[in-house]
Amino acid sequence: MRTKLAAGNWKMNGTRAQLQELTAMSEAATKGAAEVLICPPATLVCAAAEAAEGIAIGGQDCHAAASGAHTGDIAADMLKDAGASHVILGHSERRADHDEHNDDVRAKTKAAWDAGLVAVVCVGETLDEREAQNTLDIIGGQLAGSIPDGATGHNLVVAYEPVWAIGTGKVPTTDQIGEVHDFMRARLERRFGEGVGRSVRLLYGGSVKGSNAAEIFAVSNVDGALVGGASLKASDFVPIIEALN
Ligand code: PGA
Repeated sequence: MRTKLAAGNWKMNGTRAQLQELTAMSEAATKGAAEVLICPPATLVCAAAEAAEGIAIGGQDCHAAASGAHTGDIAADMLKDAGASHVILGHSERRADHDEHNDDVRAKTKAAWDAGLVAVVCVGETLDEREAQNTLDIIGGQLAGSIPDGATGHNLVVAYEPVWAIGTGKVPTTDQIGEVHDFMRARLERRFGEGVGRSVRLLYGGSVKGSNAAEIFAVSNVDGALVGGASLKASDFVPIIEALN
């Protein structure tokens, strides 16, 4: 049985005042069986880890190197030291804004594992790719290229986030989500063996809200969500956590 996971990505939002929301999410997080993860901006990781009760804290990116002359970057080990247990890697905004490719994501995932962090590796097609009926090819290529050998159900979570659904209010149909999630499960089982393939959690991300969460969570092989906008306020995120429990 895979433990359900409600993950929030705060992106470039939030100063210390935002931590009140975390406190307000704690009750729902400790009450249910689902795991809750919040990935605040790097400036808040330390304080969030101290404030959070029953909520895991993650980074939104890390460098592939363990240390060195990389101004402005953060090593996986530093996230771990600040209190993070997870790190989001290969988010489509990183792939687009920072020209990150599968091999970068793969190297970062290795670095995350070396530091003892769980990697939340993101994959997803653009609208053009979907319309050209290339979705499964793109997802298959991203899975193969972004995930190093050595994945387990403990060190890897995969998030399927169609680029066209992020922050747009557009959500794929449940059939479209199910098709990709079943495909990802099969690919992971083929590459890592059935035991590992079945134990990796697969999240859906892209315009998840309290009002559509239950329907999405009922789809086969959806083990939770990676939530952007609706993870910023407890009043929006708690119903998503509750829909998982
Ligand atoms: P959204 O973002 O929930 O605001 O669409 C999801 C994400 O980018 O992880």
